[in-house]
Amino acid sequence: MTWEPVIGLEIHVQLKTRTKMFCRCPAGFGAGENTQTCPVCLGLPGALPVMNRRAIEWTVLLGLALGCEIPGQAVFSRKNYFYPDLPKGYQISQYDMPSCINGSLLLPTAEGDRVIGIVRAHLEEDAAKTVHIGGHSGRIGGADISLVDYNRGGTPLVEIVTAPDIRSADEAKRFLQLLRQTVVELGISDAEMEKGTLRVDANVSVRPSGSVELRTRTEIKNMNSFNFIARGVDAEVERQIGVWESGGEVRQETYDFDAAHGKLTARRAKEEADDYRYFPEPDLVPVEPSRELVERLRSELPELPATRIRRIETALGLDRATVLVTGGLDRLWEGTVTAGADPVASANVIANAVVGAGVEIGAVEPAELARLVEARERIPRAAFDDAIAKVGDSGFTADSYLAQETVSNIAELEPIVDAILGANPGQVQAYRGGKEGLLGFFVGEVMKETQGKANARVVSELLRSKLSG
Ligand code: ADP
Ligand code: MG
Ligand code: ZN
Repeated sequence: MTWEPVIGLEIHVQLKTRTKMFCRCPAGFGAGENTQTCPVCLGLPGALPVMNRRAIEWTVLLGLALGCEIPGQAVFSRKNYFYPDLPKGYQISQYDMPSCINGSLLLPTAEGDRVIGIVRAHLEEDAAKTVHIGGHSGRIGGADISLVDYNRGGTPLVEIVTAPDIRSADEAKRFLQLLRQTVVELGISDAEMEKGTLRVDANVSVRPSGSVELRTRTEIKNMNSFNFIARGVDAEVERQIGVWESGGEVRQETYDFDAAHGKLTARRAKEEADDYRYFPEPDLVPVEPSRELVERLRSELPELPATRIRRIETALGLDRATVLVTGGLDRLWEGTVTAGADPVASANVIANAVVGAGVEIGAVEPAELARLVEARERIPRAAFDDAIAKVGDSGFTADSYLAQETVSNIAELEPIVDAILGANPGQVQAYRGGKEGLLGFFVGEVMKETQGKANARVVSELLRSKLSG
């Protein structure tokens, strides 16, 4: 019997509004601990929340990008629980009447679009950040003390809940990359997993292939990269198959994935007892976005990443197109191709060399990059890499780079290098036999011949490629 994974994701996206959800404290990263707080976000008695209009509009915008319906009324509720990161003793969150429902994201695949249902997207406030000090895991167990930074408390957070439509760990990863890029392009969040502005919980079950039942699921938390999520899901799928095949039964539990050891640890059951006693927040009126607002936001939607993948896929194939679009690289690619460079070569140079060199994508002039892409077969690898590293510098032009000393002499250098190799067959043979230290000898000979004018790095590169060829 074969098994089919069934996966649903709950994704939290921290919105990058200037201020918090219900007060005017600045939202965002980096300020000194507990410097961005006020009576509202510290939950002091008598303080009243006021909604952040922009956060509500951005939630609707995201919902529209995910093909959701926007109900005429959304309601904030109180989700009650007791923990130091929540000074009010409750979190304000949309519950049974969220801002966005019934959407889907189309995930391009080789077999056509996979429709991943979006059950809902709702707006809530983030909890404060708890830091556990001492112990070894950074978790509360074994820690000496725990500290709370209330700066994050009250930051607007959108939770997106998918239907259990995802069928593999790899599909979960690709879905998340596409969703992340969508959010980033809408300009509503930086959605960086390392910074915690994008957080993902994965719900996982398995079933016999071909069946449509939904078996008991578990939830995996605390995975802070796309690869960890994929590995965590894979590990849990394997574990569950093992449980069923050995005649056991999967229990509904929550796991932490320890990426360093590839291990899943169940949380204590008491940590998940969730009776939140939701009730409507009495200090806030329902949110009633006007139809005009919804239609204006819809008209402002940019062309979405999934659509662009489909558009450029014909030139590049699905995998390359996906890498470019989900990496935010396709606009540069398009410019480079428009400037005359080969589509596939441009895609490879951008996804590998340009990204590898850490170049700021927005600073690259596509026409200059196009010239480098065209020149790359003619110039030594070292000169090409050097040029790519500089392609984002202000004032960089490929023509002046290619004309300068690093490269200009290659045409002249090549015959000199050939002559020196020809004159020293013994050393060439020794080098090829493993005496790579002889490279210095050859470089020295070329430098002598050129009276020290050649660029040593370029010379070495040229020698290396000739000697290995
Ligand atoms: P809850 O209300 O307990 O949070 P939901 O029904 O809202 O549960 O589901 C939460 C998440 O779990 C969703 O992403 C959903 O797709 C996923 N999910 C629900 N049932 C299953 C299942 N049997 N297998 C895998 N994922 C599931
Ligand atoms: Mg849930
Ligand atoms: Zn505040």
